[in-house]
Amino acid sequence: MACLVCFEQSCRTEYPITDVLYNCPKCGGLLEAIYPDMAIDVAALRRLFRERRMGNAPLDASGVWRYRELFPFLEDYSQVVTLREGDTPLLDAGAAAAYGGLDRLTFKHQGYNPTGSFKDNGMTCGVAQARRLGMKRVACVSTGNTSASMAAYAAAGDIEALIFLPHGNVSFGKLAQALEYGARTLEVQANFDEILALIRVLADRLGIYLLNSVNPFRIEGQKSIIIEMLDQRDWRGPDWIVLPGGNLGNTAAAIFGR
Ligand SMILES: *Cc1c(COP(=O)(O)O)cnc(C)c1O
Ligand SMILES: [Zn+2]
Repeated sequence: MACLVCFEQSCRTEYPITDVLYNCPKCGGLLEAIYPDMAIDVAALRRLFRERRMGNAPLDASGVWRYRELFPFLEDYSQVVTLREGDTPLLDAGAAAAYGGLDRLTFKHQGYNPTGSFKDNGMTCGVAQARRLGMKRVACVSTGNTSASMAAYAAAGDIEALIFLPHGNVSFGKLAQALEYGARTLEVQANFDEILALIRVLADRLGIYLLNSVNPFRIEGQKSIIIEMLDQRDWRGPDWIVLPGGNLGNTAAAIFGR
């Protein structure tokens, strides 16, 4: 059975998977989803994943949910909202490889996602968890890709999206995208961290589910980027993986199960 566990090695306290938590109530550490009795038959799963790629069921066509056995935090999949995220190509970058003095360089181009960033891989999982918990509103503090992705999945899942923006520090293209998806935006005279602290209090009081990168279920979905990349390479890992970093949520997702 899936549960949430504190990321801190000195704590590792476990909580039910359906608790609405973003940090460990005991020590404040980040939380991760774990699956203590997960049994993996590697050959059978590889076959299953390949079969699903040829199917038309929405869950199987998704480059996230196709790999659902590797992050089984849901008991049933009726609450999933998929926009056919993932399935992003590996593009060979010959000129860039030569420029960088490399033999070979390949991009896993996450811009092919429905809202244009890898945030969609995680957001489909975050919004599925919100719906499973019966949440009617989701929120994030964001200046860019997270807000557009959250707004798209919330709209598709019939949930209200609230986006809190730090005053004067916003990507207008991304904001326009979120507004097109019907999100409500609120500009606050404070910086990112101050607003996050404020909306955590607000979320508890008003039953709003937070989908910032502290949300452990977004990390679960982002694991699919590496899994899909390996699938596309017939399970031969590359020498190096280079990732962009912000809060390092995506990086944490990439090194899972190492
Ligand atoms: C969100 C984002 C990042 C930062 O990701 P983290 O998981 O917070 O490290 C980097 N690049 C792009 C394009 C992003 O959308
Ligand atoms: Zn803890």
